[in-house]
Amino acid sequence: MSDENENVVKVENKTSSKKSKRKVTKQDILEANNLLEEVAEIFEPCISCGLCNGVCPTFKVLLDERVSPRGYALKLREKIIDESVYEYIPCKACDNVCPMKIPISEGILKAREVLFLRGKGLAKKED
Ligand code: SF4
Repeated sequence: MSDENENVVKVENKTSSKKSKRKVTKQDILEANNLLEEVAEIFEPCISCGLCNGVCPTFKVLLDERVSPRGYALKLREKIIDESVYEYIPCKACDNVCPMKIPISEGILKAREVLFLRGKGLAKKED
């Protein structure tokens, strides 16, 4: 890979005490942007009914809309993405109740890929 096509970014992962370094290329950024478009389209049909929150084990415990399936759906369809997507536990209960048949877990996991491509992936144990 040429230096011209390479933008090296050092990332300090806030979820780990160790620094994680990853080279982020222009191609990564391009892919991340395309993937985020895809994610936004996945959540576009959301009607904000909250049925997904009703079956979410994380929401039952935390009662925090920001880390609930509906919360992610409403943020991601606006292309708002942050590291809270790592709080999501893909038990897929939400997928089974969505009246709009939105593949919620798939969309949130794709959002994690966006962060990874942007150099904000979770650090490996050996990092
Ligand atoms: S169940 Fe589906 S439509 Fe209802 S809030 Fe959740 S993602 Fe949106």
